[in-house]
Amino acid sequence: MSSQYLNFIGGAWVPSRTQRTFQNINPANTDDIVGSFQASGPDDVAAAFAAAERARDGWAALPAPRRGEYLFKAAEILESQLASAAADMTREEGKTLPEATGEVKRAINILRYFGGEGSRMFSYQIPSEREHVFCFTMRKPLGVVALITPWNFPSAIPAWKLAPALVAGNTVVLKPASLAPLSALRLVEALDKAGLPPGVVNYVTGGGGAIGDAIVEHPALKAVSFTGSCAVGNQLYDKATRRRLRVQLEMGGKNPTIVLADANLDVAAATLVNAAFFSTGQKCTACSRGIVERSVYEPLVEKLIAKTRALKVGNGLEAGIDIGPAVDEAQLKTDLDYISIAQREGAELLCGGKRLTGGAYDKGFFIEPTIFGGVTTDMRIAQEEVFGPVLAMTVANDFDDAMRLANGVRFGLSAAIISNDIARVHQFVNRIEAGLITVNLPTAGVEYQLPFGGTKESSFGMREQGPLALDFYTESRTVYMKHTV
Ligand code: NAP
Repeated sequence: MSSQYLNFIGGAWVPSRTQRTFQNINPANTDDIVGSFQASGPDDVAAAFAAAERARDGWAALPAPRRGEYLFKAAEILESQLASAAADMTREEGKTLPEATGEVKRAINILRYFGGEGSRMFSYQIPSEREHVFCFTMRKPLGVVALITPWNFPSAIPAWKLAPALVAGNTVVLKPASLAPLSALRLVEALDKAGLPPGVVNYVTGGGGAIGDAIVEHPALKAVSFTGSCAVGNQLYDKATRRRLRVQLEMGGKNPTIVLADANLDVAAATLVNAAFFSTGQKCTACSRGIVERSVYEPLVEKLIAKTRALKVGNGLEAGIDIGPAVDEAQLKTDLDYISIAQREGAELLCGGKRLTGGAYDKGFFIEPTIFGGVTTDMRIAQEEVFGPVLAMTVANDFDDAMRLANGVRFGLSAAIISNDIARVHQFVNRIEAGLITVNLPTAGVEYQLPFGGTKESSFGMREQGPLALDFYTESRTVYMKHTV
């Protein structure tokens, strides 16, 4: 029998007032029901906000280093459950067990990093023009904030929103993605076991369409941090900014890797395979475009195909698997639809391209890692986010042409260059339209202690993670203080 999971509101695990649940299913084996979760409605959201409002002033009044201690304790608790939390993630999202283990470790690191921010919480002290006047800024929490998260990093993304929100002194309503709500629940459980006061974190599951408006329209809401698709993010933006709420959006990408003629082609092939196919291409920072100088295009593609064909696709719980399934049937259909579109538009299918079937594959949503060659900028595969293991390869005439191609999309999340030509690398870093830039490294694989976010239509608002994350979750006040004695 599968487990039933509850909402967490006001410090208690409670069923939804709708009395309805939905199922979380393993995409590698649809016979495996991970659990049933609460199909919440607006009343549950209202209860979560009421609890967050009750907890708000007490939590904000606690010294920040003491708030940080709860995060340290939660990190310790999550670390003691690393193996089971990783297995939960693989079952609900499909990524391989080593990938899931890495993600839970990252969530633990994030809790520790922001636990430490409790003892820093840097502000400015700035000299006054006037005598005996002492000036400084101070950070104040915003109040109740909402965090809406996607399924593809179901532990790390909730962690990188929750941890700075909490240490800054806000109380939180968290709505995880319906496809993978268990990993976020494990985080919330760890915070609960760490003794977090009731109402400081509230976790409400349910369809975004059913409870999204109740969250964004709640009068107590001060800010919303969202990660997910552009379609949903843009709708949220309209609703939230109409109310002058603070909004942070992290959305899609169409991330390029430029390979210049001087590149080490083994490094280039390994980097592209890693960035395009690991986690089934379901990373916002995944590379979906290879842009290669003409003279090395053919030899690079040859190496790429050989490496890609050697990848093992299967159930991520099994040893030796490189790539898990698509997260669900709808994402698999999207991947296959884009493969058909690319073929119709004249791209050359170089490898992969099919759903995997037969034996255990029939129980899940498995797809071959796929490479297209001869892709041109007018093709949809060159412009639109697929969010699957599909790589589009394009020839560039020279460096300037590569830059034009790389920047010729509406997204701007991450971008890479493979080259040791220092002048070109510098030009790339300056001219590329992306928030996350890598050199001789995959487009994906960023670290928690550095700021994260994109430009153009990929992102809106302040950066997440690293030292800049607190800016979104705090309001700056400026104090002028005169000594009168
Ligand atoms: P999504 O469909 O936009 O969902 C994201 C979250 O929004 C989920 O919790 C979803 O709930 C919720 N939601 C849906 N409709 C809503 C509404 N009307 N109001 C409020 N919330 C609503 O995205 P996804 O499929 O989970 O994630 C994939 C996308 O995320 C990709 O585009 C990827 O590039 C992007 N992503 C971006 C980053 C980044 O940092 N830039 C990181 C990771 C992922 P339900 O699950 O219940 O529908």
